[in-house]
Amino acid sequence: MSDIAIDARPAAQAPFDLKALRAEFPILAREVHGKPLVYLDNAATSQTPSRVIDALSDYYARYNANIHRGLHTLADEATAAFEGTRARVQAFLNAEDSRQIVFTRGTTEAINLVAQSWGRQNLGPGDEVLISMLEHHSNIVPWQLLASDLGFVIKVIPVDERGALDLRAYRELLSERTKLVAVNHVSNALGTINPVKELSRLAHQQGALILVDGAQAAPHQAIDVQDLDADFYAFSGHKVYGPTGVGALYGKRALLDAMPPWQGGGEMIRTVSFEPSGTTFAETPHKFEAGTPAIAEVIALGEALAWVDGVGVEAIGQWESVLLEHATRQVCAIDGLKVIGTAPHKAGVLSFVVEGAHAQDIGLLIDQLGVAIRTGHHCAQPLLHHFGVEATCRASFAAYNTLEEVDTFVAALHRVIKMVR
Ligand code: PLP
Repeated sequence: MSDIAIDARPAAQAPFDLKALRAEFPILAREVHGKPLVYLDNAATSQTPSRVIDALSDYYARYNANIHRGLHTLADEATAAFEGTRARVQAFLNAEDSRQIVFTRGTTEAINLVAQSWGRQNLGPGDEVLISMLEHHSNIVPWQLLASDLGFVIKVIPVDERGALDLRAYRELLSERTKLVAVNHVSNALGTINPVKELSRLAHQQGALILVDGAQAAPHQAIDVQDLDADFYAFSGHKVYGPTGVGALYGKRALLDAMPPWQGGGEMIRTVSFEPSGTTFAETPHKFEAGTPAIAEVIALGEALAWVDGVGVEAIGQWESVLLEHATRQVCAIDGLKVIGTAPHKAGVLSFVVEGAHAQDIGLLIDQLGVAIRTGHHCAQPLLHHFGVEATCRASFAAYNTLEEVDTFVAALHRVIKMVR
C-alpha cells in the first residue's frame, strides 16, 4: 500500500476527545480478518457505547418486569425508566409534550403506523401522496400497499443530477389533491439533506400534512419538530447509537388523538367487552402501543440519546462533515470512480461506483482488509435505477470514526480496485 499517496490531512480536529470517545465503544477494539476493524457502515447501523449495553443488561439484572400495570417495585422502576425515555425523546425532538411520542420497532414501523392509522382514515380515491425519488423502501412500500386498497395516487418528487430534490417540480406537484408529503430528512443512499422546513411550509400552504423519515437525520443534526412544523417525524434507535428493535414516532397531538389504533391487544385498551362497541381505547400514545413493548431497548434508547446529548449532536455532525470531505477528496482522485450524490448539503454518506469493478466484489474484498462498508441498492432501488446503477459502494461515518480510518479505507480501496480490474 506504500505506493498510494494520501492527501495532506485537513487541519480540523474532532470537536471532542475522539480517543476517549472511541474507548466507550468496546466493538471498535475488535479485529476483522486479523486487521483492526474500520467500521464505515454507520448509515445501516451505528455501534453502541458501553453505557447503552450496560443499560440493557442492568434492566435484566436488576428490574426486569412488565410495565404500566404492576404494583410491585420492579414494575414501578421499569415503568419509570421506560417513561423516562419518552421524556428524553420529547426533548431530543423538541416536541411540546411527551404524549406525542409513540414507541415503535423503528422508522419502518412508525411509517406503517401512520399509513395504517392516519392513512386509512384520511386517504381515498382522488387523493395524492407525494414521496420523493430519494425515499428508502420503508417510505415507499407502506404507501403502495395502502394505495392499492384505497385507490389514491402516489406521485414522486424528482431529483436533479446531483441528487438534490427538484423544488420547482415539488411546487408543481403540490395541489389541492395532495393530502400528505412523505419525505426523508436525509437520504441514506446519497446523503442528501432535504430542506424539510421549506417542504413543510409549502405542503401546509396546500393544506397537506408532512411526514418526515428522520432515520438518517437524527444521528447527525439537531431535530426540532416544532421549528420544522412536521406533522409526523420518525427515527430508529439503532442508527443513533442505540439498540435495534426500537424507534419512535412523533405526531402532532390533535392528529394522534384523532387517529384510530392500528394494532389491538393489551396495553392499548381502557376497557374490553365481548361487544365490540364496548371496547374502549387508552389515550395517546398508549393506544398505539399494543402488547408488551421492547422495554429494555426503550430504556437503552434513552441512554443512547443521553450519550448523544453529552457529546453534542451538532459536534457529531460537524466532525462527520470533516470525515466526509476528507474521504470524498481522496476517492475522487481514483481513476474511474464516480461519486453518486453530490448535493450541496450532504450528511456523512459517500456513495460511489467504480468502472470495471462490481460493488459487491469491492465490498467483499475490502472486508478482508478489515473495512466494513455497504454495497447494494441500500433499500432505495428506484433512486439507484434513476442514476443508472444497480448497486453502489457506500461508506458512512459516525462520531467515532477517525481521519486515519478514512485513510485506511482509501488505501484499501486502491488495493481492492487493483485486484478486481
Ligand atoms: N428510512 C431511512 C432513510 C433509512 O436509512 C432506514 C434504514 O436504513 C429506514 C428508513 C428504515 O429504518 P428501520 O429499518 O430502522 O426501520
